[in-house]
Amino acid sequence: TICLWGRRKAANPTTPEFMNHIPNCEEPLLGDTLQHIKEEYVIQRDALEINLEHQLGKGCFGTVHKGVLSVTSGSDVKVAVKALSNQATGWDVKRFLQEAVFMQDINSNFVVRLVGVVVKFSPIYVVMELMERGDLKSFLLTEAGGTLTEMKMVELALEAADGMAYLADKKLVHRDLAARNCMLDTNLTLKIGDFGLTRYLKTDYYKKSDKGFLPVRWMAPESLQNGRYSSRSDVWSYGVLLWEVVSRGALPYQGFAHEVVNVMVISGSRLECPENGPEILKFLMQQCWKGQPKERPEFIQLVRLLLPRASPDYQARFERVSFFHSSSCRDS
Ligand code: ADP
Repeated sequence: TICLWGRRKAANPTTPEFMNHIPNCEEPLLGDTLQHIKEEYVIQRDALEINLEHQLGKGCFGTVHKGVLSVTSGSDVKVAVKALSNQATGWDVKRFLQEAVFMQDINSNFVVRLVGVVVKFSPIYVVMELMERGDLKSFLLTEAGGTLTEMKMVELALEAADGMAYLADKKLVHRDLAARNCMLDTNLTLKIGDFGLTRYLKTDYYKKSDKGFLPVRWMAPESLQNGRYSSRSDVWSYGVLLWEVVSRGALPYQGFAHEVVNVMVISGSRLECPENGPEILKFLMQQCWKGQPKERPEFIQLVRLLLPRASPDYQARFERVSFFHSSSCRDS
């Protein structure tokens, strides 16, 4: 668990020594973000060994490598280490660490856990639970992904819905739910990852003011049109995620430019339902793509609808680890 590896003695991360040697970073900007990182998540650099030969992937801020974290109270822990590139600007540092801020205290079996951050001197690292089988999109494109059974598709859908139900309950809106941002562990259990665009909802809606790079093909019409995000716009993206699973990693709206997709979705066009695949997933996709956010199901309802379609064995295992079963929502 987090407690095992998280708690190590650390100085206050907002003190000036933490600003040293972090490239191009204005002190108030970094200090402001560091204030939101809890002390128990600060890792000392020498406790971390990074395997530079084992690159897991490349993100928008730098590389992700396999690593090992030594913990005082137990055996070493395998981790994934996201490094911020040396060319990062102050704003990049802020956005990079912002992801870690949102991942703190997440306690769901279907959401990737934050292990900690290394912020004293450059390069700064975000250290996460290692997801051995990588991201779902890459997996779907492999031979193993191409031969996924319908039952396994339902299980993946359940795990994603339960992880998202947990986030929605915490009033977090992910805004970038897609197969590329779901990770798989050794047992091919799915966990929601990449909190780069996540926001905390003060009301039911988060309104985005500037336009950066946007995951247009996964976005709900109200997000495309008015920059409005909510857990129900995450539900829309979840529908596209189901489509990716059933289509085994295909690109949504293949052959159409972003601008065209934007216009199509706003004017009511929808992705074509794949021919094969579990009927329940195809039915749920349609529900997730209702034009009015309120007409879409909530994540907790999606779990309720999917659960009876899983095998009795799987249901018994799911019951022990799901947010759905631990929360009172299951009774409503
Ligand atoms: P960014 O948010 O900067 O784009 P990502 O979080 O998408 O970066 O990470 C890039 C890639 O690194 C992912 O596609 C995945 O293959 C790999 N990766 C990220 N996090 C993990 C993890 N916890 N375990 C294993 N691989 C990971």
